[in-house]
Amino acid sequence: MRVLGIETTCDETAASVVGLSASGHGDILSNEVMSQIAEHAAYGGVVPEIAARAHVEVLDRLVERALRVADVKLKNLDGIAAAAGPGLIGGVIVGLTFGKALALATGKPFIAVNHLEAHALTARLTDGIEFPYLLLLVSGGHTQLVSVRGVGDYRRLGTTIDDAMGEAFDKVAKMLGLPYPGGPQVEKEAMQGDPLRFNFPRPMLRRPGADFSLSGLKTAVRLEAERIAPLRPIDIADICASFQAAVVDVIVDRVRGALRAFRAEDGHPTALVVAGGVAANGAIRRALTRFAGESGLRLIVPPVALCTDNGAMIAWTGIERLRLGMTDDLTFAARPRWPLDVNAERVHNGKA
Ligand code: AMP
Ligand code: MG
Repeated sequence: MRVLGIETTCDETAASVVGLSASGHGDILSNEVMSQIAEHAAYGGVVPEIAARAHVEVLDRLVERALRVADVKLKNLDGIAAAAGPGLIGGVIVGLTFGKALALATGKPFIAVNHLEAHALTARLTDGIEFPYLLLLVSGGHTQLVSVRGVGDYRRLGTTIDDAMGEAFDKVAKMLGLPYPGGPQVEKEAMQGDPLRFNFPRPMLRRPGADFSLSGLKTAVRLEAERIAPLRPIDIADICASFQAAVVDVIVDRVRGALRAFRAEDGHPTALVVAGGVAANGAIRRALTRFAGESGLRLIVPPVALCTDNGAMIAWTGIERLRLGMTDDLTFAARPRWPLDVNAERVHNGKA
C-alpha cells in the first residue's frame, strides 16, 4: 500500500509518499517540505493570505517531486490523503482541493486528514507503538494533551485556554527583539542565561486537570523587560532562561496531571509521545526524559522533521484510515476548526 500525503494547513507546503510494508510498518519513500519562514519573517508571524498564495505557487511541483523521489507513478498509488484542517482556511483549501482533484482524475480513494490526528499518529509510523498512549502536542498553533486510544478515537485531557506554546515562545522573542521564529532563538539565548534571575509565574501549576495558560507568563515577561529596559545582552539571555524554566515547570506539571487522568480511564500508556515544533527544545526534552524515567514511561520524540508539519504524517494517517476502510467523499469541506476529541466541548480562542 502506498499513499500520497499533502499538507498545507499553516506555513509549510509538504508532500510525501509513505508505503506500508508486509510486516505492517511504514516506510517513508519521500518527504518533501518547503517552509515559508522567509516570506513571513518580516511580519513576525504567519500571514494567512501570503501563506495561501505561497502554497498555490509550489504545491504542484512539490507533489511531482515527492512522486519522483519515491519512484512511484500516480496510477500506482493506493490512495491520496490531504490535510483538511484545522488550520488557516486559505491554505487548507489549496491542499485539499489539489488532493481531491488528483483523486478525481485518477479514481483513487481519497482521505481527508485531520492535521492533529496526523501529529498524533506519527509515533506509530516512526516507532510502531500500540494504542493507547499519551500525546503532548506543542506547536505554533496547538497545545494539547491527548489520550490516543485508536484511529479516530481520542480523548482530550488538556489544552491551552489562551496562547499556544510555540506562540508564547514567538511572542517573547518578538518583545525582546529576537528574529522570527522565536522558539529556537529563545532556546539559544537561554543557554547563556540565568534561569533563577527572574521568578516568572508558573500558570496553572498544581491545578486539577491538564489545561495550560500562557498569556499571563508572557505578560509577566513583558512587564519585567519594560521595567529593566534598556536591555543588555545578558538581560535578554536571563529573561529567556527564566521564561524557559517557567515553561518547563508548567509542561511537566501539566503532563503529570494528564497522566493521572489517562490512568483513571485508559490504563497504563504504552508511551509518552511529544510532537510539534516546540518538541525541538532541548530543555523541554530533558525535563520530559527525566519525568518519563520517574514515571516508568517510554518517551518517544520523533525526529524534528516529523515533529513539525510534514507530508509523511498525512500520508501515514491516510494509510491508517485506508486500511480500516475509512475513506472520504470528494465533497469533504475544509475545516478551519476541527477538534480531535468530538466530546471536548471547550474550544478556546479558536484553538481546538
Ligand atoms: P510548528 O507549529 O509545529 O510548525 O512549529 C513551529 C513552532 O515551534 C514555532 O512557534 C517555533 O517558535 C517553535 N519552536 C521551534 N523550535 C523551538 C525550540 N527549540 N524551542 C521552543 N520552540 C520552538
Ligand atoms: Mg509550521
